[in-house]
Amino acid sequence: MIEARDITKSYGDQRVLNNVNLTVNEGEVLGIIGPSGSGKSTFLRILDLIEAPNSGELLLFGEDVLARRNRWIELRRRMGMLFQKPIVFNASVYDNVAMGMRYRSESKAEIDRRVKETLEAVGLSRYIKSSARDLSGGEQQRVALSRVIVTEPEILFLDEPTANLDPTSTATIEEMVLRLNREVGTTVVINTHDMLQGQRLSQRVGVMIAGRIMQVGRPKEIFNNPENLQIARFVGVDN
Ligand code: ADP
Ligand code: MG
Repeated sequence: MIEARDITKSYGDQRVLNNVNLTVNEGEVLGIIGPSGSGKSTFLRILDLIEAPNSGELLLFGEDVLARRNRWIELRRRMGMLFQKPIVFNASVYDNVAMGMRYRSESKAEIDRRVKETLEAVGLSRYIKSSARDLSGGEQQRVALSRVIVTEPEILFLDEPTANLDPTSTATIEEMVLRLNREVGTTVVINTHDMLQGQRLSQRVGVMIAGRIMQVGRPKEIFNNPENLQIARFVGVDN
């Protein structure tokens, strides 16, 4: 579903990504874990076609995309992204979610049904007419996720989506992401600095340290068998 080969990215003379390689299979949930500043967000922005790398190759849905910028808008519509800071527009909760479907050809009745069903599932039905900006941070993130879920994306990217959120919102977001994966078959890539979240959600995790994916494997394998001292330190098994 995703194949990144030798991706490099620099800002000025700072090399942020250093020959990153990663393959994500269709239908899997893959976590990218690593300390703050290691390049996780930068890498996700490249996979999601928000930013271009300096060099490397990227295949999405089997298509070589970096040389073909004219394809990006269409490919972006097949993918969803959730950022650490919730993005909600100055409109009602209902309209914020319905906005996700503006490029789809579904009927008004179908859009209405899906928006209501999704808001019910994330526990926000009672705020359907409220202004999204009046909600708490955790509720806003649930709105932002709902906007993505209604589109049933083929790939979902999440960049530390629950950092600083209350436990209820965190649990709801994790549950909804797993449901989307299970029911729709969405491939998921989630950045987190929280090892435990990585373990809860992912079949495999990639450990990113200092701009490199240093090890990829099942969470257990990485705990039991870290390939180097930096990974061992990050997962907390060096003592
Ligand atoms: P992480 O998400 O793992 O915390 P980031 O990808 O956000 O890491 O950042 C990696 C490094 O790249 C940091 O040193 C950060 O300051 C730098 N960086 C990220 N984005 C930019 C940018 N747009 N301009 C300049 N430097 C950036
Ligand atoms: Mg980040």
